Amino acid sequence: MKIHEYQGKEVLREYGVPTPRGFPAFSVDEAVAAAKKLGGKVWVVKAQIHAGGRGKGGGVKVAKSLEEVRQLSSKILGMQLVTHQTGPAGQKVRRLLIEEGADIKKELYAGMVVDRGTQKVALMASSEGGMDIEEVAAKTPEKIHKLFIDPAQGLGDVDADEIAAAIGIPDRSRAQGRALFRALYKCFDATDASLAEINPLILTGDGRVVALDAKFNFDDNALFRHPEIVALRDLDEEDPAEVEASRHELNYIQLDGDIGCLVNGAGLAMATMDIIKFYGGSPANFLDVGGGATTEKVTEAFKIMLRNRSLKAILVNIFGGIMLCDVIADGLVKASKAVSLKVPLVVRLEGNRVEEGKKILADSGLPIISARNMADAAQKAVAAAKAKK
Ligand code: ADP
Ligand code: MG
Repeated sequence: MKIHEYQGKEVLREYGVPTPRGFPAFSVDEAVAAAKKLGGKVWVVKAQIHAGGRGKGGGVKVAKSLEEVRQLSSKILGMQLVTHQTGPAGQKVRRLLIEEGADIKKELYAGMVVDRGTQKVALMASSEGGMDIEEVAAKTPEKIHKLFIDPAQGLGDVDADEIAAAIGIPDRSRAQGRALFRALYKCFDATDASLAEINPLILTGDGRVVALDAKFNFDDNALFRHPEIVALRDLDEEDPAEVEASRHELNYIQLDGDIGCLVNGAGLAMATMDIIKFYGGSPANFLDVGGGATTEKVTEAFKIMLRNRSLKAILVNIFGGIMLCDVIADGLVKASKAVSLKVPLVVRLEGNRVEEGKKILADSGLPIISARNMADAAQKAVAAAKAKK
C-alpha cells in the first residue's frame, strides 16, 4: 500500500526524521490559509499523487507571494498530472501539500527496500539526489552506495556515519546525518515498510539534513497490525476494478490485453497468462479467485472483468483440488446467467469430479467452449478473441 508525500512526512516526523513544515490542502482557500499559517516568504505548492516525477510533470512549484500560492494552487488542483510513472492518462490532483520553501545547498538521495536475496534491508544512498536518480543508477551506478542492514542488529552508528560520509554529508552535519539514517531505519522497520525513499534528502545552507520528499510502500501482508497506516489509504489513487476485487477477496490486476482470465491459484494464473501469450494472445487481467471459487465469487469476478471495455473473450482455467469441479461448473453456469455473458467463454476444468462438471456445462444450454487441456483452452480463447475483432 502506498501513501501520499504529506502522509509519509507525518510518519517520518514521528520517528524523528526532520522535514520542512507543511500542511495538506484540499482546496485553494485551504492552500492559502496553510501558507499564511506557515509564514515566511517562500512556499512550495506540491501536487499529492502517489506517482513520482511530479516536479518534472509540473506538479511542484515555488511561490513567492500568497497571491502566487493562490494562482499555482488553482492551477495544480484538479489538473490531470502526467509523469513518467502515471502513464499517458495521468492522475487527477485532488490534494496539495503547502510547504515552506527550503534553502537547498545540495540534493542527496536515500532509499531503503527489503532485499530478498540477502534477507536484509538494503539502504541505498547517493550524493546525486534530485529528479534524475534513475539516470544516476543507469549511467554512474558507482555513485550509489549500498549497505545491507541485518534486521536482527539494526543500523548502528558506525555504519550510519560511513554512509553519511560516503554521500558527502560534511563533518559538521555528520551527527545529524547519522541520526537521520538511524531514524529512517527505525521507521522502516516499525511500520513494516517495503520501500522508503527520500529523494531529495537535502543539505540546507545552514548545514541541516532534511527529508524534502517521502515515498513509502508498505507490506500489504503486515497491514493488519497497522490500522494507523491503513487509515491513510486513498482509494482515488487505486484502480477502481482492483479496489472492487479486493472487497471480494479476489486478487485482480488489470492488464492491457483482451482475454480475461479467471483462475484458481496464483501459479496457475501466471501459467495461464504465459500460455495465452505463447499462442499469440494477450491477457486482459491477472485474476486468482483463491481456493474457494464460490458462485458469488465467480459472479463478482465476471462483473469485474466485464467492466473492461477491451475484453473479447474469457478463459476460465480451474483445477478442482479442494473444490470439486461440479461445484465450480454449477457456479460458472449461474454466474454466466447472472451477468448475461456476451463474450465467448472458454472453460478448462481438471481435477476431482471433472466428468460431472463437464456434463453440467454441456447441459447448461450456454455457448460455453469446452477445452481438453491448457494448450487447447489457450488456443481456443485466442481464436475466439481474434474472431471478435
Ligand atoms: P517529485 O520527486 O515527485 O518530483 P519532489 O518532492 O522530489 O517531487 O520535488 C521535486 C523537486 O522540487 C525537488 O527535487 C526539489 O528541488 C524541489 N522541492 C520540493 N520541495 C521543496 C521545498 N519544500 N522547498 C524547495 N524546493 C523543493
Ligand atoms: Mg522526489
